[in-house]
Amino acid sequence: MVRTSPGGLSRSEPSGFAVGLTGGIGSGKTAAADHFARLGAAIIDSDAIAHALTAPGGRAIEDIARQFGERYIGPDGALDRQRMRETVFRDPAAKAQLESILHPRIRDVAMARAESAWRDSPYVMFVVPLLIESGSWRGRVDRILVVDCSPATQEARVCSRSRLDATLVRQIMSQQARRDERLDSADDILVNEGPLEQLAARVSRLHRGYCAGARRGKRL
Ligand code: ATP
Repeated sequence: MVRTSPGGLSRSEPSGFAVGLTGGIGSGKTAAADHFARLGAAIIDSDAIAHALTAPGGRAIEDIARQFGERYIGPDGALDRQRMRETVFRDPAAKAQLESILHPRIRDVAMARAESAWRDSPYVMFVVPLLIESGSWRGRVDRILVVDCSPATQEARVCSRSRLDATLVRQIMSQQARRDERLDSADDILVNEGPLEQLAARVSRLHRGYCAGARRGKRL
């Protein structure tokens, strides 16, 4: 909620109630966020922002071309995602370099959107798949909500959604925060192991709590 500092509110300090939603690949972040949106939460999706920043004419394109080379930019002017994915997958330094270009910009865009969303919505929800890994989101949100299910369920969902090979899904999972680390960081846990109707009911309960927190104007 409103956090004041001697110099006033800095750009990075949210001025309304904010929830950070995270979870491993295929845990159900999008399914959960869709329910929260239906109830009136303003959803701000960091992946969508990253996509826009790396689309043709996107604000990260110039820096990526300068630091990684023009070969990482496709003929349409967008980031060559496949090439970049392969590079960062095997080179941690390149991954860190890409993140240093993207993460500050993602946060700036997200916070600017939040400032306008707070005028119309009781609270904003930042959907950040790597919220636990990136660390710098914690101070920007009042609650961290982790969507959780077993690794076997994650794998089954991702394989059936995108027909990705199970080995690749497991590899991606091994590069994300461990389940216990994520759960340790959670203020709230949304268990998404059962049917979607159960998820919707749990989302409604959490939404009521977040609205109450926003009305009280302080952390829950
Ligand atoms: P990613 O990290 O890959 O973006 P995500 O965490 O956003 O994934 P979703 O896209 O919401 O996960 O869910 C993954 C897949 O599992 C989707 O096809 C979704 O429809 C399905 N799914 C999510 N929750 C459930 C559920 N409770 N029951 C059945 N299917 C589900």
